[in-house]
Amino acid sequence: MVAHTGIEQMAFDELLRVIQAEAGGKEIKDPATGETVGRAPEHEEGHLDSAIAAAHAAQPGWAALGHSERSACLNRAADAVEANAEGLAVLLSREQGKPLNGPNARFEVGACAAWLRTTAAFELAPELVVDDDGGRAELHYRPFGVVGAIGPWNWPMMISIWQLAPALRMGNTVVIKPSENTPLSVLGLAHVLNSALPEDVLHVVAGGREVGQALASHPRIDKVMFTGSTAAGKAIIRSSADTVKRLTLELGGNDAGIVLPDVDPAAVAEDLFWGAFINTGQTCAALKRLYVHEDVYEGVVESLAQVAATMSMGNGLDEGNVLGPLQNKAQYDIVAELVESAKDEGARVVVGGNPADDQPGYFYPTTLVADISNENPLVTREQFGPALPIIKYSTIDEAVEMANSLEVGLGSSVWSSDRDRALAVAARLEAGTVWINKHGAVDPRIPFGGAKQSGYGLEFGVEGLKHLAQPQVISY
Ligand code: NAD
Repeated sequence: MVAHTGIEQMAFDELLRVIQAEAGGKEIKDPATGETVGRAPEHEEGHLDSAIAAAHAAQPGWAALGHSERSACLNRAADAVEANAEGLAVLLSREQGKPLNGPNARFEVGACAAWLRTTAAFELAPELVVDDDGGRAELHYRPFGVVGAIGPWNWPMMISIWQLAPALRMGNTVVIKPSENTPLSVLGLAHVLNSALPEDVLHVVAGGREVGQALASHPRIDKVMFTGSTAAGKAIIRSSADTVKRLTLELGGNDAGIVLPDVDPAAVAEDLFWGAFINTGQTCAALKRLYVHEDVYEGVVESLAQVAATMSMGNGLDEGNVLGPLQNKAQYDIVAELVESAKDEGARVVVGGNPADDQPGYFYPTTLVADISNENPLVTREQFGPALPIIKYSTIDEAVEMANSLEVGLGSSVWSSDRDRALAVAARLEAGTVWINKHGAVDPRIPFGGAKQSGYGLEFGVEGLKHLAQPQVISY
């Protein structure tokens, strides 16, 4: 491991010891084994009030440091994440279930450092809007104050960084409310980050959804960054209405991918597979409905099945695995129920669909379902797990209509060997991002956000910084 002067390096056990509840707390179980990982503190609303008061008091001093000092702090926080990368990855794997290897726990921790560094490097200077004989007007970007961040359980560390890095960069302080399913991962990450940040700039309040509700209506929270389900996003819009909070909502998706008739199935199969099965399908912008032209349909189904056979699923601490369990029983039940609804329709289960009932963890096998209708619940509802429906189409118009038929529109993709043809289809898709020949590839420099009921506001890039700042015009 790289030595970082002055930065503490903690192994998993030490990290767990410092973040666990001193007494009582919520028992957190490993979704792969059912064993206890540790006990998370269960903070109440009183704790939320104190955390917000401390963050509020610290905010003017943090803002006064200026952009270059705050960027230096974010880079130092990235150093701290890198120095503690393995301890954090083991914590994440044990609590969330995702394997250490593949695009999973080590990848997620690496992304945390990368997002911190990239966010630190952006410039957001005041803009000169008018400068003529009549006068001058400048657009400045000021901090809001205290930003509240509410996150999900699928990528708990990386999504926390997506929320907190631009908020801190712009001079806000932050209070995070992690998912009740993965509080230890976020507490561990925040402990490491706080070794590089001034006191009270970043707080974590590890409570349930009632604490999330209290945060979303708190008079001293000026902006809420929320990532989670569309249902909870709507509840947050309501809770935040009385205080007219600014919101960035990254909500549920049910991303479509359209494979055009000119693809070579074997050449795209592995990228299609990871587009759908990254994090064992528990990814907001994963490929969740695959529309394949009838000319290449059997070839794509067969090639995907061949790739699936090479990807091993199991305990995340086993270095050979690249797919893991579902994080929780409720999500396991959703995936199992949706695959059953496909079987009820008479759809063809090509791979998987047969979970073992005598296992300790929430493992649902990699599942490919062909010859399924566009109206089946496995297609119309977000499965958020390792089960991909593959729908056959005959014309591009039909594929576009099916892809656009839902109320959500986070990401989508078009797969073709003809770029212009793919771009023409992309322009017709109702989604915040359309990828060509890839799916779900997020990048800290490229704005990301949803269309329709997948949310509003943008994250990442300079556009993302603007969403963490109050625009102020100075006119003279
Ligand atoms: P969830 O909405 O159940 O919970 C997310 C967070 O919101 C948790 O911290 C929870 O405690 C809190 N919460 C729930 N109800 C609340 C309320 N009324 N007020 C305030 N806070 C509340 O979502 P989840 O099950 O943790 O995550 C899965 C969902 O998140 C999926 O739909 C997925 O698509 C979505 N997601 C979206 C993105 C994105 O970037 N668009 C990223 C990851 C996950």
